[in-house]
Amino acid sequence: MTCVQSVTYTIMLNGSPIQPFEARKGLRQGDPLSPFLFVLAMEYFIRRLKALHHIPDFNYHPKCAKMQIMQLGFAGLEINKKKSSIFFGGVSQDMPVDILEFLGIQKGELPIFMMPKKITKLIEAICRSFLWTGNNNISKKALLAWEKNKAAVSKQFWNLCKEKNKLWIQWVHCYYIKNKHIWEVQLNQASWIMRKIVKAKENFEASGYNYEDLRQMHDCSIKHIYHKLLYTKDRLLKWGIQTDQTCLLCTQANESIQHLFFECQYAAELWKMMLKWQGISRNIYGWSEELKWAENWTRSRNAKSELFKMVLAECVYFVWQERNARLFQDKARNWEIIGKLIVQEVHCRSNKEVGKALSKLDYNPM
Ligand SMILES: [Zn+2]
Repeated sequence: MTCVQSVTYTIMLNGSPIQPFEARKGLRQGDPLSPFLFVLAMEYFIRRLKALHHIPDFNYHPKCAKMQIMQLGFAGLEINKKKSSIFFGGVSQDMPVDILEFLGIQKGELPIFMMPKKITKLIEAICRSFLWTGNNNISKKALLAWEKNKAAVSKQFWNLCKEKNKLWIQWVHCYYIKNKHIWEVQLNQASWIMRKIVKAKENFEASGYNYEDLRQMHDCSIKHIYHKLLYTKDRLLKWGIQTDQTCLLCTQANESIQHLFFECQYAAELWKMMLKWQGISRNIYGWSEELKWAENWTRSRNAKSELFKMVLAECVYFVWQERNARLFQDKARNWEIIGKLIVQEVHCRSNKEVGKALSKLDYNPM
């Protein structure tokens, strides 16, 4: 600190320096050195804070003791005393006087007012935005239906499973999950958002994921989870809605996402043809393996991988449409027809780059 406080300056006058003078106001705002100075000063300050627990009378905040959380960051360099107020609660009568005198900040009174409806709506929108995008700008996404919010909450559950090195995750483990297994834990005393996050396990279970699957998932996009929450028959059954579980496309197995894309005999034939059409020859797998394969295949960005992504998306869409047509309209088409429709669709939707890759392939996939 001495070094910070003892800066002196001198000025060259007629070629020779004048007598040095002390810096009274410190660094100027905008000085390129000031961020470094801030870091240095904060480092020193935090070291002093960390030594506080040696003082016998010192107590942590009750929910911060185990992790020894002392502070959560700083909003500004210095308090503007004119704009600041202190609010007291649960302290003896003399104490506020001493504190106010010591800090030189005025006492504030908590206003009691009714929150207008508009404000509560705004706060809700900000909360949704935070869950969706991780920041508090109210975006278009934030205004999406609450149903999709389930996927966002599920992502937080995935974060907890991954035990990522984030403070909030460590804190939740420390105070709520403790030594229990996250898959078994039940929170009755926690806030509603915590209970909602822990309950999101059910969303994953309904989609056929277990704890190990989540641990191994490298990335967990909200879009991906939302997709997983598609209403498949096995899911409806778990909700207690009685439905025949048999896959309508092959009638050979129970319907699930893993089965439909593309373990199902019907879907597998279609997907095999679409891969062969693109010059890819390999075995056909279930959804989780197919996703992994697609991730690898599309790692480099080129016309071929762009085409692959399009075809995959179209196949998922058409298989799902076919399944719905059979369920709700009693209409059925064979996979060869679907294949032709997909090729047409891809031709219509492709851009110039993908078009070039397409021109090398047969128009008829058979
Ligand atoms: Zn099937």
